[in-house]
Amino acid sequence: MTKVRAAVVGGGIVGVAVARELLVSGTAAEVTLYEKEPQLASHQTGRNSGVVHAGLYYEPGGLKAALCRRGVGLLQELTARRHVPYDECGKVVVARDETELARLRVIFDRALTNGVPGVRMIDAAELARIEPHARGIAALYSPTTAITDYAAVTRALAEDVTEAGGRVLLGQEVTGMHDDGTRVSVVSGSGAATFDLVVNCAGLQSDRLAKASGDSANPRIVPFFGAYFLLRPERRSLVNGLIYPVPDPRYPFLGVHLTKRIDGEIMVGPNAFLAGGREAYNALALVPRDLAAVAGFGGFWRFAAGNIPAAIREGRTVLSRKAFIEAARAYVPELGVADVVPGRRGIRAQAMNPDGSLVDDFVITGSKRILQVRNAPSPGATSSMAIAEHIVGLAGRN
Ligand SMILES: Cc1cc2nc3c(=O)[nH]c(=O)nc-3n(C[C@H](O)[C@H](O)[C@H](O)COP(=O)(O)OP(=O)(O)OC[C@H]3O[C@@H](n4cnc5c(N)ncnc54)[C@H](O)[C@@H]3O)c2cc1C
Repeated sequence: MTKVRAAVVGGGIVGVAVARELLVSGTAAEVTLYEKEPQLASHQTGRNSGVVHAGLYYEPGGLKAALCRRGVGLLQELTARRHVPYDECGKVVVARDETELARLRVIFDRALTNGVPGVRMIDAAELARIEPHARGIAALYSPTTAITDYAAVTRALAEDVTEAGGRVLLGQEVTGMHDDGTRVSVVSGSGAATFDLVVNCAGLQSDRLAKASGDSANPRIVPFFGAYFLLRPERRSLVNGLIYPVPDPRYPFLGVHLTKRIDGEIMVGPNAFLAGGREAYNALALVPRDLAAVAGFGGFWRFAAGNIPAAIREGRTVLSRKAFIEAARAYVPELGVADVVPGRRGIRAQAMNPDGSLVDDFVITGSKRILQVRNAPSPGATSSMAIAEHIVGLAGRN
């Protein structure tokens, strides 16, 4: 393949990793990255839990399983080379009863199949040694699950891009992409430019941009916010690393957990509920265009009808701090409502099918000249550099 002129839309971790991979792999001679915000990592990448997932939960054979494991290795190299903080603090997934323990054994088998290093089942006594304030009858222990600062990782990736001759344009919203059969014109605030290859990594806006470029409107992005609380400094000793519940198959999201952040803060969360807008981080903000898009999407109503218990559970955590903290108290009983202060929110770009099912795996679609990242939820930050390799591999095959 001859070297191409490429553009990437979106300066989150996936977009910047793709821009970098296009250059370092030698696929592109020139790369221009468009980011609509004045700084990189302003949306999902800068508002997540900061966990470097080890690959415990993911369906073996799927993209998530493969790209998460590969992504961890690439992330370790990058953080070491660019001096970005990375802490292998370890994670426990706590089973409170025999039902949860049976489900946890399934996750353990999956983790082994996915090649997660060092993972093992531990009893209550060992759990007490690793996380003295957690309570359960047993747990799965993943010693290599880590934490990092994904905004800092994104800036480090961007340094690689600019050092390799790429251009990072901030404050440049892409408003249109048009494939004329030989090249793609990209329209932004600074006018139009043409490219051989364009990769849409626009996260919460990715379906809209895909549709504007002539691709399918589906799967649709439905924004689900995740709120966090932070432990008061004097209560941070309740948690050493990462403490998670056993996921309940009746609910589509993981459930509130306790996460150490790389700056030493301990986060409690995130819950999951429909956001008032794709980028509406203020709890009271409502964005009419985004709400109308959800209301007019039959898939959302089918999802809602099939997930009433989840909506009730999560809705309680939205309305009541007590209910939110109770979810975490179930496995860290000493935690109290007075121990936390509100943290900031993130909003997940969750792709949903017209039948109301959530798209679980990473999804990349597209044509010879335009590739679209249609679903990159968690562990998307962990997997970002491997997602980039995958995308550039697809581009090279066209
Ligand atoms: C609450 C929460 C917790 C999470 N926890 C974890 C975790 O612990 N570990 C993990 O691995 N993953 C986690 N994730 C998932 C992870 O954050 C995402 O997978 C990852 O950040 C996706 O990166 P992205 O670049 O695709 O999207 P984003 O970071 O959202 O970036 C998309 C970018 O595109 C830009 N953009 C949009 N439209 C345009 C346009 N028209 N023109 C130009 N620019 C545009 C946006 O401004 C944005 O900067 C979490 C996500 C959330 C929301």
